[in-house]
Amino acid sequence: KVVSVTGASGYIASWLVKLLLQRGYTVKASVRDPNDKKKTEHLLALDGAKERLHLFKADLLEEGSFDSLVDGSIAVFHTASPFYHNPNDPQVELIDPALKGTLNVLRSCVKVPSIKRVVITSSMAAVAFNGKPLAPDVIIDESWFSDPAVCEKSKAWYMLSKTLAEEAAWKFAKEKGIDVVTVNPGLVIGPLLQPTLNTSVAPVLKLINGTETFPNTTYRFVDVRDVANAHILAFENPSASGRYCLVGSVIHCSEVVKMLCDISPALTLPERCADDKPFAPTYQVSKERAQTLGVKYTPLEVTLKDTFESLKDKNFF
Ligand code: NDP
Repeated sequence: KVVSVTGASGYIASWLVKLLLQRGYTVKASVRDPNDKKKTEHLLALDGAKERLHLFKADLLEEGSFDSLVDGSIAVFHTASPFYHNPNDPQVELIDPALKGTLNVLRSCVKVPSIKRVVITSSMAAVAFNGKPLAPDVIIDESWFSDPAVCEKSKAWYMLSKTLAEEAAWKFAKEKGIDVVTVNPGLVIGPLLQPTLNTSVAPVLKLINGTETFPNTTYRFVDVRDVANAHILAFENPSASGRYCLVGSVIHCSEVVKMLCDISPALTLPERCADDKPFAPTYQVSKERAQTLGVKYTPLEVTLKDTFESLKDKNFF
């Protein structure tokens, strides 16, 4: 049972590798620099890693880079993609690696007949940015696609990178007849396995660190362990197909501040919203398709507590 994971050192992928090893798989895992201890030490320390984890060097922008990674696998989990905001050059830093990288990985997969399915980590960023108005009774589901023009207009470059990458993946899969499934998580939080802070957990640390105000934002949160598990279910369930939105809770930041207060009453948390506009609306994200996969969501209170404790253990505050 050999499977491959691209971008294995990342926040979500580290949990995915951990769960795959736990389930008895042999894991071929790509990282950009196998000699960078910060990126690999936590992976090599996982249970089963000594016997069943094999590291490969691969870069999204190098053609053919993933050939040896995916060779002999029954499943490929493509998670690698740069995730940060405010790039200097969006095309070079975010769009090219996401879009060309996804096609690069898929081209390697086409050459390997043993691969039954490619599970791609897409995002709610490729689902919800289409300019449709949001309100508490609006239900976002898998039929929604982000609109590249809307992303571009609002300079939402990461959202654009994920939208273009997913669009290209579906086109390629159709043309070449390969089995692709995407998982589309919301903002992923929960305990960190890697030693460095990643983009999606950073907003929680910002709140804990107690700046004066909190942003007027509605988050769509999902637990990193549920996301990793959903990747595996998306491969193991033969009837899985298409896209799966993964969002456990949609919640305004003001409520998150209250929950963090309950977790640690000693914290000095921000008390005021950053602006005096009405609170950004909440809305719903359909859980129906994810439920058919067997995804169960960790309660947000538990996820936030585990995130808090992980950040504390790793001395982030
Ligand atoms: P991380 O930043 O922790 O991980 C990103 C990974 O992508 C890293 O392993 C990084 O490798 C790799 N990567 C970036 N550029 C390249 C490149 N040029 N070549 C090879 N690898 C590259 O992010 P997350 O774990 O949060 O994200 C993982 C995936 O999940 C991404 O596809 C992201 O878009 C998606 N996602 C994340 C969400 C979240 O809230 N976290 C929500 C929805 C989707 P290296 O370690 O070498 O830098």
